[in-house]
Amino acid sequence: PVRVRFAPSPTGPLHIGGVRTALYNYLFARKMGGKMLLRIEDTDQNRFVPGAEEYILEALRWVGIEIDEGQGTGGPHAPYRQSERREIYQKEAQRLVDEGKAYYAFDTAEELDAMRKRLEEANAPAAQYNAITRMQMRNSLTMKPEEVKAHMEAGDPFVIRLKTPRKEEVRLNDLIRGWVNVHSSAIDDKVLLKSDGLPTYHLANIVDDHLMEITHVIRGEEWLPSAPLHVLLYRYLGWEDTMPQFAHLPLLLKPEGNGKLSKRDADLGGFPIFPLQWTDPVSGVTARGFREDGYLPEATINFLALLGWNPGTEQELFTMDELIASFDLTQVHKAGARFDIQKAQWFNHQYIRLQPDAALAPAVQQQAEAAGLPCSLEKAEKIAALLKGRVNFAHELFTEAGTIFNAPTSYDETIVAAKWNEDAKRAVAVFRDALQAFDGAFVAEEIKHALGDAMQQAGIKQGKIMQAMRVALTGSGAGPDLMLTMEIIGKAETIDRLEKALN
Ligand code: GLU
Repeated sequence: PVRVRFAPSPTGPLHIGGVRTALYNYLFARKMGGKMLLRIEDTDQNRFVPGAEEYILEALRWVGIEIDEGQGTGGPHAPYRQSERREIYQKEAQRLVDEGKAYYAFDTAEELDAMRKRLEEANAPAAQYNAITRMQMRNSLTMKPEEVKAHMEAGDPFVIRLKTPRKEEVRLNDLIRGWVNVHSSAIDDKVLLKSDGLPTYHLANIVDDHLMEITHVIRGEEWLPSAPLHVLLYRYLGWEDTMPQFAHLPLLLKPEGNGKLSKRDADLGGFPIFPLQWTDPVSGVTARGFREDGYLPEATINFLALLGWNPGTEQELFTMDELIASFDLTQVHKAGARFDIQKAQWFNHQYIRLQPDAALAPAVQQQAEAAGLPCSLEKAEKIAALLKGRVNFAHELFTEAGTIFNAPTSYDETIVAAKWNEDAKRAVAVFRDALQAFDGAFVAEEIKHALGDAMQQAGIKQGKIMQAMRVALTGSGAGPDLMLTMEIIGKAETIDRLEKALN
């Protein structure tokens, strides 16, 4: 059975790219009838940020990604927070040392620096602590056993490093990128266990993916360079035959396509790159979020799903279930995906117009009341119905409803010049009189009849005066359905506005 994991590090808010990674994992798991795990990779204590884990859980909940097993849910492989699993990694690191595949290293920061300098001066290749240089350093391969023992007994700090082979071909078949070949000489003797007893990302990640029986590792492209090292680790740990398959997802690019989307783009572009608003606990700086900016979760996942994948058809709108049904990991693109904020807005527009009026009404009512304008929920619902096809966000409805709440203070001059003629004035006056005598329900359908009758009576073609009528009521020559607009404005106010336009 398919088992995938989302394995974020709680080093800050989840970037929207992280949400996409989680989403692709989720879609794949659901599609294959498998399980979705959440594991918190918090072994780098220096980068731990309080609140980040809660943020991650809340963001996943908000977009509708359900976790089957893991942090916040529980399961047979608990704990799912790596900082609570340190003995597990220590045991595996020790096993590698015992089997001659890893070794203790006692080098101080100064000694490592000196080596780096020497290598730089000699223009040596990138892998620095490797099969050749390790022989000049202070580790359990170069020191006498008694010396190693003495260090250990004295409690001196040490790390465990992988004894990377000198000449070995490492290959992996990535589901998206195809074959990746790396020569082991390009991989250095990575630290597996740090001097604080905690594992590095590489060791903890492989050990956990193995123990948690992960079948597919779906993650961002920035991890592709580490993948050969991971293959090597599976080999050394003796787990190569159950190694998961890899799928490295394309980068998210800046809106202009010039380079990778980064956390700094949030300030530059004035658009959100985090799912939820986040206030940094240290700096107190707040970054905007999709949720608080008014994006709907349905729109957010639809937008994200299509950043780097498409179904190969014209369909653009997908519910989560439809995404699950159509998603195919092998169709994910290799090339980076442009983070196109206009597209995000377009998706939100599509979902706002599909929202029930009752769901949009409270926002309208709140904004109206905050502006000192009384607005019943019923009126707010009508406004939502009238205007939801014309906005990208629920909070734009109130602004869009400006001329419903407030009588026009000026009239569009071009329309007045072109349309406010004697016929129009006569029509408006006849209609005003008709409304004064009107005692039915003041609803769009009835208003339409009243207007039709009045125009017939005045012998004026209705089409000729509609724009003038609209200008008289709203000040502008274009807008949403005029009968509904009058219904929402109400009879008394409609009559007032017609009156005012005539004077
Ligand atoms: N903790 C890593 C991250 O934050 C996980 C990478 C992986 O999925 O292997 O991106």
